Amino acid sequence: MIDVALCIGREHDPWLVLLAVFVCCVGAFAVVQMLGLARETHGVQRLGWLFLTAVGAGATIWCTHFVAMLAYRAGVPVTLDPVLTIVSLIVAVVGTGAGFWIAVWRPGMLWSLLGGAIVGVAISTMHFTGMAAYRIDGLVEWRAGYVAVSELAASFFAALALGALQWPRLARHRMAAATGLLVVAIAALHFVAMTALKITPLTLSEAPLDTRQMQALGLATALVGLVVIAAGVAAAAIDRSTRSDVQRRLHHMATNDALTGLPNRAALIDELTRQIEIARTSGAHLGVVAVNVDRFQEINDAHGHKAGDAVLATLAQRMRGQMRRHELVARFGGDEFVAVIRYDLPQQLTGFAERIEAALVAPVTIGSLNARIAASIGVAAYPQDAGDAQTLTNNAHLAMHRAKTAGVSGPCFYDAPIDEAIRERRELAADLRRAIEENGLEIQYQVQAHADSREVSGYEALVRWTHAERGPVSPEMFVPLAEEYGLIPALGEWVMRRACSDAMTWEQPWKVAVNVSPAQLGHAGLPALFHQIMLETGLPPRRLEIELTETAIMTNRDQALHVLRQIKALGVGVALDDFGTGYSSLETLRAFPFDKIKLDRLFVAELDSPQAIAIIRAVLALGKSLSIPILAEGIETERQLLVMRREGCDEVQGFLFGQPQAQPAAVARKRKSA
Ligand code: C2E
Ligand code: CA
Ligand code: CA
Repeated sequence: MIDVALCIGREHDPWLVLLAVFVCCVGAFAVVQMLGLARETHGVQRLGWLFLTAVGAGATIWCTHFVAMLAYRAGVPVTLDPVLTIVSLIVAVVGTGAGFWIAVWRPGMLWSLLGGAIVGVAISTMHFTGMAAYRIDGLVEWRAGYVAVSELAASFFAALALGALQWPRLARHRMAAATGLLVVAIAALHFVAMTALKITPLTLSEAPLDTRQMQALGLATALVGLVVIAAGVAAAAIDRSTRSDVQRRLHHMATNDALTGLPNRAALIDELTRQIEIARTSGAHLGVVAVNVDRFQEINDAHGHKAGDAVLATLAQRMRGQMRRHELVARFGGDEFVAVIRYDLPQQLTGFAERIEAALVAPVTIGSLNARIAASIGVAAYPQDAGDAQTLTNNAHLAMHRAKTAGVSGPCFYDAPIDEAIRERRELAADLRRAIEENGLEIQYQVQAHADSREVSGYEALVRWTHAERGPVSPEMFVPLAEEYGLIPALGEWVMRRACSDAMTWEQPWKVAVNVSPAQLGHAGLPALFHQIMLETGLPPRRLEIELTETAIMTNRDQALHVLRQIKALGVGVALDDFGTGYSSLETLRAFPFDKIKLDRLFVAELDSPQAIAIIRAVLALGKSLSIPILAEGIETERQLLVMRREGCDEVQGFLFGQPQAQPAAVARKRKSA
């Protein structure tokens, strides 16, 4: 190497050498950038980048060599063969192109090293072709040892350069390492190969190029080379920035809600997961606030979806305006938002929830729409309420649902016992829905009899549900559940259809009594449905009786009475159930001509109490005066039967006459004989 250093000092123009080194460094940098892009792209893009990389590498090597040759003081006249000079450029472009292609062709270190070695061969081939174009008036001698060393060094360092690009341990320094190694490969080849050259001058033949001419030519060459290289770098920069723009846009679309511009559910869960990781080590607290706009559907229905969208966008903007450091709000979908805060003191969380609420309740004016928004808000906190993002947001939602159903103003904080019970109810409701859809329910029938003759007058249909895990669930539990979760229409229709078709199989034309819920009476289509079911099953209307409680009538009196009149007009009987427990108002009895009053079993159970007897007598007297027959429920003993008969009850029902059972006994006999 000392030899080489000496040779550079003695035999070269230092300025041109510096220029050559500069071209080499800039070029190597450009080549590594472009090669990186060739590796990242595919198909035509990759081919394009390989081409540009090869042109850049060719220009770099060729210019470095050429400028360095111009820097070389041969001490004899020199001419250049134009054809071979051009050939040397082509060799550089094609040779390095081949090497780069192999390096990116397949992933893996071996391919990179092989490709790099070929690039090294291209560098040496270019050099020696270039030297062949360099015509000297003198005896030229090549020292084989140096030639070999120069070629080996070029291939070795070029292989290392491309290998470095693949080496994971270099991480962020890959590009710099590769650039450096490529510079070393080119420079080593050139200067070691020049050391291999030994010139013995002969007589002058042509005028040698003078130093100034040399420098001008060197500058021009370097300039052209640098322009080519700069074009490559510019192309790479444009490509990288467009690609990162596209990526940013795609990322934004994937993580943001198009309507409000807020982060979406996935983005929030990601961020919350990250925040939990941080909080786990720092001991900070996190609050999750779930928000649901109340009666948003009404805005949509009354003013159209465009107005609804505008309201959501306005609310989103207001909430975003409330966010401070370590706070974030996202749209969870529909009219639901979730906000997150990192806090130290509990009052910060309360303040956060209140700020969000204040942002929501301010009136919204959009065009002709002037709405006062109300929202239900639920809050859950890390670490006390949950340890992961999903459970934390679920719990905030549970609290929010409680706020909604309870109609409370202000945020509801997650309360494990209460909210878990609600969750359980919700799951049970989902199971019930499935049971209704999949015919998983059953009906049992309980006999109703004439008080005097004990003759069967009819059967009451009582729905049964056996849950796969919990076993039998009482209708006193799941009927209210069905009301709460809007399952009553489906449940009622199923019971009615099944009861009517069962009754058609009975031996005698007994009546079938079907319980009807308050929620069912709210549907104007109920009489039509009953009519259709009776047509389908062939059950005559006089064999059907519906049972309903006063509550059913009180909920929406006018609507209920309207529906009841239509049902009665079909010829269906209407019985007032559980009389004596609810309002027991004379007004109800006056407003509608019931076909039967069912005295609640509570009174029969308390026959020893004088008050109970007094009420029974009053109800019976009432019935008599309105000509409505009375049925006493819950008769369990002969004594109870005796008393009720003595007091003047028309019909009776209770365990004394029979437990609810799958089908009336008469049918069982009929089936057996069949
Ligand atoms: P309900 O209409 O008052 O039905 C009578 C309830 O009293 C039945 O309970 C029945 O098993 C019970 N029972 C009958 N005789 C006696 C007795 O001698 N002693 C005692 N202690 N109890 C007796 P179940 O089947 O558990 O039904 C409870 C309530 O569920 C029903 O009260 C009714 O309000 C509702 N329900 C039942 N089936 C349906 C239905 O298909 N639709 C609707 N909407 N509600 C139903
Ligand atoms: Ca009943
Ligand atoms: Ca009853």
